[in-house]
Amino acid sequence: MPLPRSLLAAFVALILLPAAMLVALGLRLLDQDRALEDRRRRELAESAANRAAATLQSQLASLHRLLIQPNAIAPAKTSLIRNGVGPLLYLPNPPALPEPPAEPFAASDRLEFQSNQPEKAIPLLAPLAASPNLAIRAGALLRLARLHRKASRLDPALAAWSQLTRIHTIAIAGEPAALLARRARCRAFEDTRRIPELRAEATQLLSELHSARWPLSRDAYLLASQQAAQWLARELPPPPAAEEAATALAALWPRRNTAEGALCHGRYTLLWQGDNALLASPAYLAAQWEQPLTIRLTCPPTAPPAGLTLPPALTSLPWTLTVPLTQHPLPEFSSRRTALFAAFAVLFLLICAAAWFTWRAIARELHAARLQSDFVAAVSHEFRTPLTSLRQFNEMLTDEAGLPADVRRRYYQAQSRATDRLHRLVETLLDFGRMEAGRRPYTLEPTDAAALTRAVAAEFAAEPAARDFDIQCLAPPHPLPIRADREALTRALWNLLDNAVKYSGDSRTVTIEASAHGPHTTIAVTDQGLGIPAHEQPRLFQKFVRGESIRARGIPGTGIGLAMVRHIAEAHGGAITLQSAEGQGSTFTLTIPSAQ
Ligand code: ADP
Repeated sequence: MPLPRSLLAAFVALILLPAAMLVALGLRLLDQDRALEDRRRRELAESAANRAAATLQSQLASLHRLLIQPNAIAPAKTSLIRNGVGPLLYLPNPPALPEPPAEPFAASDRLEFQSNQPEKAIPLLAPLAASPNLAIRAGALLRLARLHRKASRLDPALAAWSQLTRIHTIAIAGEPAALLARRARCRAFEDTRRIPELRAEATQLLSELHSARWPLSRDAYLLASQQAAQWLARELPPPPAAEEAATALAALWPRRNTAEGALCHGRYTLLWQGDNALLASPAYLAAQWEQPLTIRLTCPPTAPPAGLTLPPALTSLPWTLTVPLTQHPLPEFSSRRTALFAAFAVLFLLICAAAWFTWRAIARELHAARLQSDFVAAVSHEFRTPLTSLRQFNEMLTDEAGLPADVRRRYYQAQSRATDRLHRLVETLLDFGRMEAGRRPYTLEPTDAAALTRAVAAEFAAEPAARDFDIQCLAPPHPLPIRADREALTRALWNLLDNAVKYSGDSRTVTIEASAHGPHTTIAVTDQGLGIPAHEQPRLFQKFVRGESIRARGIPGTGIGLAMVRHIAEAHGGAITLQSAEGQGSTFTLTIPSAQ
């Protein structure tokens, strides 16, 4: 019987509701757990950042200490240590290089400018050009080159300048002597259209500019490099790292508004202490740190990378510290989550199992309730038939006073049969009730199964129900000794015969056969009637169970006959078995241990 819809809906709701609540609860717990994990990650990152900030502060302090050590700066007048940066293309305030003195050249200058006798000045300058004093040598070479150039003697002029290109530590009119000489040679080649030499000279000039040979101001550097590019007729930019460092220094230098401090620009950091300063590249800083840093240092306005950031205002460091937040699950949280998942899985399984068991119990109860109500209806029907005939014969006997004696007798006999049927019905029900309650006493006594079978067959054949039937009894003439409760066994055989007749359909033959098989004695009741579908057979011996096809045909019955037969068989230490095929009839075989 299908379950009522409302019951089904209520059941589904009852199961779905806790399951949905469980899922919602689980999701919420997971959310909370994730939030906690995020907070923990932040805390870890914060403490890492604080530790790093403290380390960096002490590292910075030791760099500052380095800056105030007198021998840390070489040469003494250079106000910039270029540790870790490499050559700087130009400086914010380049140190002034020494210039040649005027006095050794007073005589030659007079001859050149006042007496207008330049040729006489040359022998005066020649020994000075070989002076071990670089300043004097530079002054002499400069003048010699100038005098030769004026006299259009290009080669000696070029030779003098060439010598001058080797003097890097002397300036002439604020410009490094070597730079001045290179530019002069380039101009001379340009004027005389000696292009290949011009290109070679300009290339040399540019490479010396890029190697930061001389301490130049930004303007001087730009002027010289632009000139060189013109002479080369193409741009030749400096190495990017060198340019980046020079740009950083130029940007940071004017921002030094305290006696000591640190600032960063791009990848470079400038530290200063009074006039002493240090421009440090990331590689230099990394080499200074006692332990490698896993955090990132950036300088505003660079957008900091994703993670926990500590701005300079919080750390008094020149950098923004960024600690990337780890995306890996934290171990304590992942094990907790696993436990959570496991708990929810178990709970979910429990709910499913409970639902399944409840569902089965409900279905069983409903089935039992249906069987019981069918039973009540069937019993009422069984009672109604004999009661109706009793009432009819009663009325006829009462109303019709002049009935002949033989008719009267037949009526009384019919009344007696109806009474017998009622009696049997009541006995059957009482017996069934006792069996169910386990209160039916069985008195087993030596019995001849063959004789009992013959007696039951004869008695049943006299029944009105068996009137049209050929009840064949096959029992051997010799006794088949068993130990049995005769009344109970008779009831079992009677039930089987009753069923055989009831479910015979158009067939009119029923056989009852008793025989011995080794230690067992069997009594089989066979009909050639409706038979039983295979799928119905296993459950037919349960109480109240009736075949679907039989019910559909409207054949009355209570569903307790076979249950009683099984009960009786088992009480005798035996069993009841069934062989049947739909449409071909059935054989019910009662097997009881033979008595020795
Ligand atoms: P009922 O009062 O319905 O006969 P039983 O317990 O005696 O109750 O039998 C249970 C069911 O077994 C019957 O409803 C019927 O479907 C099936 N059955 C019993 N005996 C036979 C038979 N000889 N032939 C076909 N079906 C039978």
